[in-house]
Amino acid sequence: MNVASFYPLFLQAGKVTIDSRKIESNDIFFAFSGDNFNAATLAEKAADEGALAVIVEDQAFENIERNIFHVPSTLVFLQELAIHHRNQLKIPIIALTGSNGKTTTKEIIHVVLSQKYNLQYTFGNLNNHIGVPLTLLSIKPEHEMAVVEMGANHQKEIEMLCKIAQPNFGYITNFGKAHLEGFGGFEGVIKGKSEMYDYLKSHSQTILVNENDPIQVEKTENYSPKITFGKANSDYLFEEFSTENFVGLSFQGQKAQSKLTGNYNFTNLCAAASLGFHFGLNFEQIKTAIENYTPTNMRSQVLQKNGKTFVLDTYNANPSSMVESLKNFSTFEGSKTVIIGDMLELGEESEKEHQAIMALAESLNFDEIITVGKHFKKANQISRSFENTQEFSQYLVSEHIKSENILLKASRGIALEKILDLIG
Ligand code: ATP
Ligand code: MG
Repeated sequence: MNVASFYPLFLQAGKVTIDSRKIESNDIFFAFSGDNFNAATLAEKAADEGALAVIVEDQAFENIERNIFHVPSTLVFLQELAIHHRNQLKIPIIALTGSNGKTTTKEIIHVVLSQKYNLQYTFGNLNNHIGVPLTLLSIKPEHEMAVVEMGANHQKEIEMLCKIAQPNFGYITNFGKAHLEGFGGFEGVIKGKSEMYDYLKSHSQTILVNENDPIQVEKTENYSPKITFGKANSDYLFEEFSTENFVGLSFQGQKAQSKLTGNYNFTNLCAAASLGFHFGLNFEQIKTAIENYTPTNMRSQVLQKNGKTFVLDTYNANPSSMVESLKNFSTFEGSKTVIIGDMLELGEESEKEHQAIMALAESLNFDEIITVGKHFKKANQISRSFENTQEFSQYLVSEHIKSENILLKASRGIALEKILDLIG
């Protein structure tokens, strides 16, 4: 079976899913083997539950009457179906990559452009070789635009994701120290992320450029079409302000106050506002979107609890975002405790990077620094350190954190948010 012959069935489907718990009748299920179930078992179950069609690699399970289709590779079929679907779509697709801030920027672009358009966008963080095709396949005839997040931890990944999504607009949030192991150092990050520019240039598509980022400027020099922001002669110039730890954006004297903390979010807001203007929104609409957006996703999230202010930034961490987070938190008024957990996936650079973060944290005069994880344990010679979140939880049963402000930041693997309920 090829994608073209399968496509009419796809057009009748509700949604495409790879999660057997989420199947509803009329869905298409792609059966991938997981830790607990093999693909064939899941395929049978999905057909029993009334899935419209099931795609599976296992030949033994093909059953055309039950719409169980066998393919040589479930992954390749998913990607090819996404490309086929993309080719039929006449809508602009905005792609985002970068080391930090992709999801946040995607969410803000979504709320901004939704003031005028019906947008589809990456759910959560589904930004990889499976997530991008699933996002594309979730685009329905009523959608007028889509925002697609693309993540990568090695070379050629963004190139592949661009070939699938075929974006008309692209933005690289920044080049930072993330996934250094897979990319082969910082130069490798620049090369790997720039694959998005390579795609956009070779297809004459539009690049969104933050002109305060020298790498973005250099990589897009003399290229058009592009949309620029950040400098006096850019297409759009915004100014930053902040109110009680929350960042805001002003444009020609008009202000939009966000509920995001961290001045790195100013850049994220600028990117979204620039696209908003580009697609014909006025400032009132952009302002409404920015002011109504409340992050709930463990990224730059500020919570008030038992009279304390928590910054919950535990979705992920790498050296660049850790630096930004610590600097931002150091500007908070009142006593401050930072609780930082290991930054994973740094390879050879790991020891050096954890030491550098410790040195920065020390220099910022926090009232208390607590580290969680093996890497920080080694680097932390000066304050309390725990091997893991569990050990820290045990400590919190009898001990209190006294500061008025508490920052929680760590890589996903540390699951630092688990201790939020234990601190009061
Ligand atoms: P992932 O690789 O996990 O998908 P992401 O690129 O989608 O990450 P977000 O989840 O939006 O990034 O943000 C993760 C963290 O990165 C934030 O909580 C914040 O600390 C930091 N961050 C966000 N935006 C920026 C930015 N523009 N520059 C530097 N750091 C940022
Ligand atoms: Mg993300």
